[in-house]
Amino acid sequence: MKNYDINALLSHLVALTQGRDDVSIASKLIEILTGLTLASVDELSQPICIYQLKNGHAKTLAKLTIDGVEIDVQVQDALKDAILYCFKTAEMHVHEIQKNNTTPHTRVQLYPIKNYADKVVSVVEIQTTSDKNSQVIDFELEKSIRKMLNVYQNFSRLVNDNECDTLTGLLNRKTFDYKINKIIAQMQAGAKRKDDRAASFYSLAIFDIDHFKRVNDNFGHLIGDEVLLLFSQHLKQSFRDSDPLFRFGGEEFVGVFGCNARDDIQAILERFRKKIEQYNFPQVGNITVSTGFTEIMEFDTSSQVIDRADSALYFAKNNGRNRVESYDQLLASGKIQVNKKEGDIELF
Ligand code: GH3
Ligand code: MG
Ligand code: MG
Repeated sequence: MKNYDINALLSHLVALTQGRDDVSIASKLIEILTGLTLASVDELSQPICIYQLKNGHAKTLAKLTIDGVEIDVQVQDALKDAILYCFKTAEMHVHEIQKNNTTPHTRVQLYPIKNYADKVVSVVEIQTTSDKNSQVIDFELEKSIRKMLNVYQNFSRLVNDNECDTLTGLLNRKTFDYKINKIIAQMQAGAKRKDDRAASFYSLAIFDIDHFKRVNDNFGHLIGDEVLLLFSQHLKQSFRDSDPLFRFGGEEFVGVFGCNARDDIQAILERFRKKIEQYNFPQVGNITVSTGFTEIMEFDTSSQVIDRADSALYFAKNNGRNRVESYDQLLASGKIQVNKKEGDIELF
């Protein structure tokens, strides 16, 4: 490795290990790999990026770049197939692009990144160009890249493990404040980005399975756990990847949803309520869910938002369950009063 400043590498590593989420860690990795690669090759034909599969739809990819996340990215078909192949085989894959003898030769190196369960969670793409048909990335550089990717893989495994609930794989309660504060800060900054997170309105919903205690009492805890797992899979499949989902407590889940129109969320949550109502859970049969939601305002704190959604959920529970209730509408129609805790200074 020539001309690569070891102090710059160490500073980037410090920054990478300060990251708390996929995007910030990925953007640091991209900076490091760009520096490493450019110390050996003349040119990167594309900025380095990291792909993730979205919504379980094999063909929808999200691209993590230094600037953030782009969902449903346009990638030329041959390259898309190569990326999906890398996800499937979990092996490093090289894709060559040469249109004719006169155009420069482009080499796309694809590296899989795996989680603790050995499943590929992302694919790192490095595209380099050379005039000759020679090996663009030499052996030494290749070794450095692989070592750096191992550091990244180890660290992102730790971060993901720490953030996710073991049973359902959803985000855990611990990460909620960090994520919601980030969304509120983004709203305050009026960040307008091209990705899905640039939604105009954000709502927070709490989902609580109705009479879940009966499931445990009638069928036992193991079956109860399976219901929780299936319920969380329905959650993941029903909403966008850009909308974070949390397991908040035993049978309580929270989602934060970005929408372009204020009224969209009621219909979206209603659709989910119906989906659960109609699903036949193995052995258990039908269960229902009550949902309370509220719009997130620019100067909210995370506990104020939770308190409002919780009041709406409480109303749903007391008015027949299997309902979706909006705090803001309940308040406007006088069905509930302002939550006393709201606006209070929180001491503990
Ligand atoms: P409601 O309609 O009012 O929400 O009634 P509920 O029975 O769902 O609510 P309650 O809060 O009384 O009971 C929740 C139950 O969830 C009690 C607890 O045993 C169960 N539970 C909590 N965590 C887990 C878990 O990880 N696995 C299983 N199987 N059950 C759990
Ligand atoms: Mg509950
Ligand atoms: Mg419940």
